[in-house]
Amino acid sequence: MNKLDSPVEEPKQSLNFIHAVVEEDIRSGKNESRVHTRFPPEPNGYLHIGHAKSICLNFGTARKYNGKCNLRFDDTNPVKEDTEYVDAIREDINWLGFRWDAEFYASDYFEQLYQWAVELIKKGKAYVCDLTQEEISRDRGTPQKPATPSPYRNRSIDENLDLFERMRKGEFSDGEKTLRAKIDLASPNMHMRDPVMYRILHAEHHRTGNKWCIYPMYDYAHGESDSIEGITHSICTLEFEVHRPLYDWFIQALGIHAPQQMEFARLNIDYTVMSKRKLLELVKNNYVSGWDDPRMPTICGLRRRGYTPESIRNFADKVGVAKRDNIIELSLLEYCIREDLNKKAARVMGVLNPLKVVIINFPQAMTDMLEAVNNPEDESMGTRQVAFTKEIYIERDDFMEDPPKKYFRLAPGAEVRLRYAYLITCTDVIKDANGEVTEVHCVCDLASRGGQSPDGRKVKGTIHWVSAKYAIPAEVRLYDRLFTVENPDDNPEGVDYKDNLNPNSLKTVSALVEPYLKDAKAGANYQFERLGYFNVDADTRPDKLIFNRTVTLKDSWAKQK
Ligand code: ATP
Ligand code: MG
Repeated sequence: MNKLDSPVEEPKQSLNFIHAVVEEDIRSGKNESRVHTRFPPEPNGYLHIGHAKSICLNFGTARKYNGKCNLRFDDTNPVKEDTEYVDAIREDINWLGFRWDAEFYASDYFEQLYQWAVELIKKGKAYVCDLTQEEISRDRGTPQKPATPSPYRNRSIDENLDLFERMRKGEFSDGEKTLRAKIDLASPNMHMRDPVMYRILHAEHHRTGNKWCIYPMYDYAHGESDSIEGITHSICTLEFEVHRPLYDWFIQALGIHAPQQMEFARLNIDYTVMSKRKLLELVKNNYVSGWDDPRMPTICGLRRRGYTPESIRNFADKVGVAKRDNIIELSLLEYCIREDLNKKAARVMGVLNPLKVVIINFPQAMTDMLEAVNNPEDESMGTRQVAFTKEIYIERDDFMEDPPKKYFRLAPGAEVRLRYAYLITCTDVIKDANGEVTEVHCVCDLASRGGQSPDGRKVKGTIHWVSAKYAIPAEVRLYDRLFTVENPDDNPEGVDYKDNLNPNSLKTVSALVEPYLKDAKAGANYQFERLGYFNVDADTRPDKLIFNRTVTLKDSWAKQK
């Protein structure tokens, strides 16, 4: 971990509100000035870009203040959880560039949590209740009207201890009883009206197997797990703000180490959904090819799409830490990956929609090897040779038979520069029976090798191309937004978020690319000149190259600003 030496000397105005509190706590000597955070995913799905925000904040805070950050799996819900998710979560955090100081599971604490619950019963602060979930909800009152007390609220401590033990032993069926904290039925905060701490669930847990048939609820398990681990700052999203009094109540009632819960706004991005439940539904019902479908906002989806860890970390940074919910534009994420790949990606030429061009005055047998720059942003990436031949392919869009004014690409009689190669002028257009252009004939100025005009005449347009003789075929997957509307979750009644799926979010084309890409490895990023950034998909095979378009080149975000 590259920890900063003197973090407290960072400029004050760049502090987000969480770091401001952390610095104050360091200054005042709270928790011996320790900083210890945790990232607490529930292993019930793959991580998404929202989690990445939380990861960057939790691990980033620890890194910034020479502290520690735990990875804790919040596995208190056996029915939905699985080791497949545990493994994926670990992989994604590592890939993002963060290393946890310790790995824990809330299920490691089941015995301790049970003992603490017994302690609360003994203190008269918890009771076994026979009401069903529905009855509890029915009796909960309104913010103005207190809850109706449960008829079991005043059970004796001995009876509660006996019943709770028998709950653990499996003497009751699912839902028959709960353990509830005895707090305040008139509290304006509904979470304080005797919340459920334990429920009965005869279900196999992915780690504890059948050892337990009672499971602690989030509100009880979370704070106590934080406390056990000595967490100092328990950072979570805004919806838990109203849970904080309960978080503090349990800690205080038990008299154990008190972490500070702090809330920030959850990350939302337009044109996508970001709940694991919905993402799982898209996967299960084959709306996408899997959790790592390049259209998914999951970390593995973004990785497969060609996003880099740096671009995601930078995005999290730019988004900042807000106290109010908001929606961030997807184009900011795209801006971040462009910015990173502009520095890193080798430039190559690929033609997505090929149109054949015959250079009539170029010798049939000749292959002219021309020098191309791999990355104008990074000289150390060197140069490569591209083969120029009599027959080449250009982008169909780069030719117009009847062009409007200011069209600086190829057209009858017009002259254009072939990137790294020659100036050519269109002399003839060949069409099929339907009038579709099948081939364009050009003459080449043989004195313009390398693309310089020999007499200083201006040639505005430069287009990319590949040699018909040497180019290799590749499948290219072009992605668009997964949803057609900004907020797929905001719908009139009767409309489901899935009704907003974009039917054209994936388009597959057969492209032609430079032979230089023959041995390109899965995951590698390239800029296809003038088209965008592309990476080699995991499905690629030696006999079948497959690319994903990560993002187009056009920077629509910067333009809007
Ligand atoms: P989802 O609602 O997508 O299922 P979750 O909150 O249930 O997410 P957890 O696995 O419980 O998912 O989340 C682990 C951590 O990540 C929590 O601290 C949670 O607050 C944080 N987190 C989840 N989603 C976001 C988000 N969109 N933005 C920021 N942090 C998030
Ligand atoms: Mg959750």
